[in-house]
Amino acid sequence: MSAPGLFSDIALSTPRLRTEVPGPRSRALHERRQRVVPRGVGSVLPVYIEHADGPWVTDVDGNRFLDLGSGIGVTTIGHTNLAAVTAAAEQLDRVTHTLFTVTPYEGYVRLAELLAEKVPGTHETRTAFANSGAEAVENAVKIARRHTGRRAVAALDHAFHGRTNLALAMNHKAAPYGTGFGPFAPDIHRVPNSYPYRDGLDGTEAAARTIAHLEQRIGVQDLAAVIAEPVQGEGGFVVPAAGYLPTLQEWCTRNGVVFIADEIQTGLGRTGTWFASTHFDLVPDLVLTAKGIAGGLPLAGVTGRAEIMDAPDPGGLGGTFGGNPVSIAAALAVFDELEHGTFFADARRIGAHLSARLEGLRARHAVVGDVRGIGAMQAFELSTPGTTRPLAGAASMVAEFAAQRGILLLTAGSDGNVIRFLPTLTTTDEQLDVAVDVIDEALSALR
Ligand SMILES: *Cc1c(COP(=O)(O)O)cnc(C)c1O
Repeated sequence: MSAPGLFSDIALSTPRLRTEVPGPRSRALHERRQRVVPRGVGSVLPVYIEHADGPWVTDVDGNRFLDLGSGIGVTTIGHTNLAAVTAAAEQLDRVTHTLFTVTPYEGYVRLAELLAEKVPGTHETRTAFANSGAEAVENAVKIARRHTGRRAVAALDHAFHGRTNLALAMNHKAAPYGTGFGPFAPDIHRVPNSYPYRDGLDGTEAAARTIAHLEQRIGVQDLAAVIAEPVQGEGGFVVPAAGYLPTLQEWCTRNGVVFIADEIQTGLGRTGTWFASTHFDLVPDLVLTAKGIAGGLPLAGVTGRAEIMDAPDPGGLGGTFGGNPVSIAAALAVFDELEHGTFFADARRIGAHLSARLEGLRARHAVVGDVRGIGAMQAFELSTPGTTRPLAGAASMVAEFAAQRGILLLTAGSDGNVIRFLPTLTTTDEQLDVAVDVIDEALSALR
């Protein structure tokens, strides 16, 4: 939300670098930071951001980067979206906190009504709000266990569900998330996912493999919930084979197992629909939201079937900041923007343009083994040519090359060999072209 004229270069298509990357001011800040912030809190690119607008982030040295990560899919409708910022600012003047579980307020109820409307299915729902994605995951597991009276939870290979202790037990990757942080929560199991590029299985075959694990290694009687990201985020934008998720959900329903869709990265416009579950004809029992829900403010939600959500007794759910009024006000503006703006169409436009350009890269560079994604959630996987074996190191080299050109790219994948795109939905095709041209150069330089 910049003042007109002050950053009037917003509509330009190219990044602007005034210094080396990181520049002197960022380097000075980084030195200060290293004296007071632990190593465990890393930064992908230590350029210290001073302001942001639409798809751009500008650092303290005046370098303007095209942000193709949106703070990992958070500022989906653009950095400092005017409607979200205005709504939050107005709310700051009215009330910042009461604690909904002490004295409630309307915004919480309104946002729950909107989620009831937008999640897939026509069933009655309830929504409980929390602060972060991991907290939504924690609450979903509590609710599913209370509802079913069962203890076990299954997550998929290549999953990522957060950094709290329970979520660490659900994540695929030990390092860096879990290593040394155990013991981990018991009764969390990981089962094979559908990863068409690597396993070559169709949806029916992949689902049969997953279900065999669920039945043999956990047993239906003990299984409270299966949690799945419709498109795996951290895992490398793995889009499951057609039919995989519906078959898995159908098995869950038949066996009284709660099916949880973790839409924390995929939800709220990112894939061109409110929820990515829609692309797979899924009607999840519980849907988790966070990341993009409040345009950059911290908020998360668990939305689900009334009879499941109502299982915990009063006082069983909550938390001091959960459903903070300022975050809620921003979220209501995000919903309004998604409802009335062009964002869904933009997500589809970005998906079509980006996937076509990335397919072009695949045709020219043998290391680009797979291009995949839905809407404004696209990725390519780097493999040893002629194989599906992960090509180590290349993705971070591409990201580093791009950073030196003012393009902020994120890597992903359990093997770190995926480049993922989570652009703001305000990103133009022209801006995407600038980024893909730089990546093209980076891939040529790999040889
Ligand atoms: C980011 C993410 C989480 C964790 O959210 P936090 O807000 O970081 O706790 C959980 N699930 C998925 C799919 C995510 O992308």
